[in-house]
Order: sequence, then structure tokens, then C-alpha cells
Amino acid sequence: MTDTTYDSQNIFARILRGEIPAKKIYEDDYALAFPDIAPKAPVHILVIPKGAYRDVYDFGARAGSEEIAGFARAVSKIIAQENLESAGFRVISNCGLHGGQEVPHYHVHILGGKALGAMI
Ligand code: AMP
Repeated sequence: MTDTTYDSQNIFARILRGEIPAKKIYEDDYALAFPDIAPKAPVHILVIPKGAYRDVYDFGARAGSEEIAGFARAVSKIIAQENLESAGFRVISNCGLHGGQEVPHYHVHILGGKALGAMI
């Protein structure tokens, strides 16, 4: 059974509360975006929802329709803002143990700025 607990001390929750600084790339009522501290591509942006969700499964299962739509729209706005659409990019969300998730607050990685090669 999937563990649906949420650790409110995780680093992204602390960024949302303003306890840890992050360089804001985009923010609205539903999402916050900032650069990954250890970038894996010329563009490497993390987008997190404002609500307390552990991963994409938890978000899809528990978030309201407005939050889900708001988050999806925010991701698209960031892609447009960063001019990624024409060249292409990759969106990844690591989940749980096998997914290699390090920070247990739902986030998507937006990677781009070069040809990214094989998926794994
Ligand atoms: P994952 O949970 O595996 O999807 O990865 C979490 C990502 O968060 C990693 O790519 C880290 O480099 C990144 N990260 C961890 N702490 C910070 C931070 N304070 N600011 C920005 N990125 C971070």
C-alpha cells in the first residue's frame, strides 16, 4: 500500500514557507518554480504545487480540480516564459523509492537547452 503521509519539514515545503531561499522563476496561486540547485541540463527548473502533496500520484488522487488545472497551466506558462517550446524539453517527476525521489513534495523537473539523449 502506498504511504500517503506528507513530511512538512521537507526542503520544498520549507522553500514554500520562506524558510529557505530559492530564486523565483515563476509563482502564482498554484505553483512555484525555481532553478534546480544541481542542474542536469542548461535549463533545469523545478515546479512545485503550493499544496502539500508527496508525488504525482498523491497530487492526482487528492488535489482539487482547480489545483490540478492551475498547476498544469503554470507548467505551460513556465515553458513559454523560458522559450522552450520550439526546441523541445523534457518533464520528469521522480516518485518514491524506485523513482529515486529525494524530496518528498511533488515536483516536476523541466529540462532543456540541449538535446537530452536517451530517457534513462
Ligand atoms: P528528486 O526528488 O529526485 O526529483 O530530486 C530533487 C531535486 O531537488 C534534485 O535535483 C536536487 O538537486 C534539487 N534540490 C534539492 N534541494 C534544493 C534546493 N534547496 N533548491 C533547489 N533545488 C534543490
